[in-house]
Amino acid sequence: MDSNGSVPSGDIRKSVHHEEEIVVVGGGIGGLACALALHRVGIKAVVLEQSDALRAGGSALALWNNAFNVLEVLGLSEQFRTMFTNLLAWEIMNSQGKTLAKLEFAECEGGPHDLRAVERSVVLEALARELPEGTIRFNSRVSGIKKTESKTGITTVELQDGSTYSAKVVIGFDGINSCVASWMGLQKAQSVGQVGIRGMAIFPEGHKFEEKAQLFLGKGCRTAYLPTSRTKVFWFFVWNDSSQGWQKTSEEQIKEESLQQVLKSFPSTPLPSIISNTPLERISKSTLRHRLNTDPESLVNGTITVAGDAAHPTTPNMGQGGCMALEDALILTQKLYDALRSPNIEELETLKATPEHERIHRALVEFQHERHERTNFITTRSYRIGRMLQTGWTVIDFIRDRFVIPLILNKNTFLAHTLFDVGKLPGQ
Ligand SMILES: Cc1cc2nc3c(=O)[nH]c(=O)nc-3n(C[C@H](O)[C@H](O)[C@H](O)COP(=O)(O)OP(=O)(O)OC[C@H]3O[C@@H](n4cnc5c(N)ncnc54)[C@H](O)[C@@H]3O)c2cc1C
Repeated sequence: MDSNGSVPSGDIRKSVHHEEEIVVVGGGIGGLACALALHRVGIKAVVLEQSDALRAGGSALALWNNAFNVLEVLGLSEQFRTMFTNLLAWEIMNSQGKTLAKLEFAECEGGPHDLRAVERSVVLEALARELPEGTIRFNSRVSGIKKTESKTGITTVELQDGSTYSAKVVIGFDGINSCVASWMGLQKAQSVGQVGIRGMAIFPEGHKFEEKAQLFLGKGCRTAYLPTSRTKVFWFFVWNDSSQGWQKTSEEQIKEESLQQVLKSFPSTPLPSIISNTPLERISKSTLRHRLNTDPESLVNGTITVAGDAAHPTTPNMGQGGCMALEDALILTQKLYDALRSPNIEELETLKATPEHERIHRALVEFQHERHERTNFITTRSYRIGRMLQTGWTVIDFIRDRFVIPLILNKNTFLAHTLFDVGKLPGQ
């Protein structure tokens, strides 16, 4: 088997055809949460994942209240609350470590608030454990989609190994380079002129950092760390770089690069020591990209749709990409449940008059309309925050540090978008 998860020709699975109710393309945080939410309401879905296993190692995701609301509905929030440190404050400092502003979350309305840097692999494993055996089909790289059959609403998905799946609903949760989005004709996510390195430092004997996130602002760059647990600390370093794509480098070079940059721009912060404690397999580098959608209906084609990063790739400046993917998973399930299983007697007559695939199509369109305003708001705001935090212009940086930062860390607004209520699953 090669690293893309494809199977050599002549493999026994070649040309096998599967019929399913729902196919989810992509076994990342959004795809697995969606399959689990569907399972919780009695709808079977299979997840086609190109890799040969769940993504192991790696670093963390900051998950806020809105993500914890979804995990709560899925019955998983308590295990993460036990495992990962709740961060009680957010502090922004200049490159010399002088505090520009600090917000204690206890001062904000709507508490108690969750902000935890949760290990990505732990989230994926927890979601996968709750799924019925055989739900995730590894080594299943989707290579093509056939247009939804207009009479039946059935779509056929083709895999690189030659096998096919047909389904009533196809959901592309296949990330920022989504093949489903590209099949739909959506624009590729565009670089925002910034590059980020993130990692997870390990302190086997325990670390002494307080339960707060600390962000340091430099000239055209910024860095931060968020304690994850007693022995782990998540960090990132972001800088302006408008060259279109950097050369792929080894983890060793990435670590050395971040260390040099941090020593140059933030020598008196704890970051050099945190980065030094990061194992190579816990470090990664990415160009920050996003896309703003203008027409939510362009994200639906027949009974096919996209969600998570495939639908609304965003910069990580608000730590909301994964949180929004979780919200999508739950809200999409609510809509599909109404279309496929609604027990509502009064609605039944109207439902019967409408073929199932039309009900599904409507549910998907409704889903995208409902998500449009929120995901565009977060994507736009996240982009603006990223630009403003690291312009690299001395005068603007002065205004930023004196006036804008205290405005950002405002107790009435800083957490407002994380108080989003996703509702419950039918029957809860
Ligand atoms: C530097 C950085 C920091 C971030 N920090 C945060 C944070 O703090 N908080 C937060 O909430 N979000 C954060 N994010 C965003 C977050 O990582 C994403 O929004 C989230 O992972 C999206 O989930 P997803 O399930 O939509 O896609 P992904 O997690 O990308 O999963 C997509 C899956 O689809 C699979 N796939 C792709 N193509 C195919 C195919 N053709 N066939 C089959 N399978 C396929 C992939 O292998 C993958 O498993 C950050 C992102 C970056 C780049």
